[in-house]
Amino acid sequence: MGKTIIKNCDIADFDTLKYDRKDILIEDDLIVKIADSVPAEGNETVIDAAGKMALPAFVDCHAHLLQSFYKGYMDDYPITDWLVRLFHAEDLATEEDNYYAVLLSCMQGLRFGTTTINDMGGYRFIDSTVQAVRDAGMRATLGVSHTDVAENDATPIRTVEDALRESNDIYTRYHGLDHDMIRMGVAPAGLPACSKELMQALKAFANERGLVFHTHLGEGKKETQDVKNRTGWWEAETLYNYGLLDERTLLAHSIWLQDYELDLIKKAGANPVHCPNTNMKISDGIPKIHQMLQRGINVCIGCDGEASSSTRDMIREARAGAYLQKAVTLDPTAMDLSSTYKMMTQNGAKALGYQNLGRLAEGYKADILLVDMSKDISLTNRSTRLSNLLYAGTGHAVDTVFVNGRMVLSGGENLRMNTGKVLEKCEELLYKLDQKMAKL
Ligand SMILES: [Zn+2]
Repeated sequence: MGKTIIKNCDIADFDTLKYDRKDILIEDDLIVKIADSVPAEGNETVIDAAGKMALPAFVDCHAHLLQSFYKGYMDDYPITDWLVRLFHAEDLATEEDNYYAVLLSCMQGLRFGTTTINDMGGYRFIDSTVQAVRDAGMRATLGVSHTDVAENDATPIRTVEDALRESNDIYTRYHGLDHDMIRMGVAPAGLPACSKELMQALKAFANERGLVFHTHLGEGKKETQDVKNRTGWWEAETLYNYGLLDERTLLAHSIWLQDYELDLIKKAGANPVHCPNTNMKISDGIPKIHQMLQRGINVCIGCDGEASSSTRDMIREARAGAYLQKAVTLDPTAMDLSSTYKMMTQNGAKALGYQNLGRLAEGYKADILLVDMSKDISLTNRSTRLSNLLYAGTGHAVDTVFVNGRMVLSGGENLRMNTGKVLEKCEELLYKLDQKMAKL
């Protein structure tokens, strides 16, 4: 891939909230040098950042990429009806719908500065999911959403053997593809729809191969109570007692938790994922993120599926999450700027098991954002850029994106894909899907 020098970028420091004008030298997929000046030797691509702010790219820790095609179709539904409607809607999708829905999700993520995504999807269309993620140039961990307990009439029921066979199939065919850009994980949907046997079998499978275990935790109040009635324990406590919590476990939502369960999560080193837009929009509730951070728990952020959150913009997602915490705790220091930016980057990278991702430092993966605040009059003041981006901005301020050393976005334009053509194709497919959805 060769060498690239990014000159004159203001590298943001998430601890001090200050900026340092530097050059960055990228060789292949890595940041190899950050210095006041990196002289060009003639064989590099040189990009003048002209004072744009440089950030590590965002890590979106909870997604259902197919759902970009269902955005707007189940708004204002209660969670139980929402889920049934979603299962029926997903049955209507074709392989081509899936490919373009996943591609659209990834392209939105990249547009707004996300280069790494953790997806929980379906086995039926895994081939087109992998293809779309690869075509988009996104770094991803993909798991299949397995369920074996009927939470409602529409829950897809798989056996433990099915789940292991499918997990092994995708692992064998796809794990580590494209120099480790594509990883497989396991993703049992969550305790309300999964047996102890299923969860433990998938965790053992994941542990033997060093994979991520990704699940929903304590999302619905009623569902959490149902699990308590079934197992005798609250959800995090159940996972802990089943031996499923450790550093490679990601826990989407993590809302309905007792205080002592936060201690179990901390003890195990597991990783809650804050998904505030979904939590608000489908009235799931508000997680104890501030208390988690105070305990030193590695909390991450995820935009979830767009059928619930309606966004793949990590800045909007993180802002919603931070404001919620400040409001519910009556404490303006809750989810402060420094914590929130780390949740969006290095915490997510750590949870997903990447050793050298999520920071701008020598030896780290060159997943870099250049943010241009000059085109949005509401973001004025170079001295408070980190603050203004999170509290006043959106992902549209992202100008340039590098993934694994390669520039995929410049001037806000996707360099890999023809955005206009992709959107045209999506509209064509969505028109057909809309006719099927009308009959739901
Ligand atoms: Zn989810």
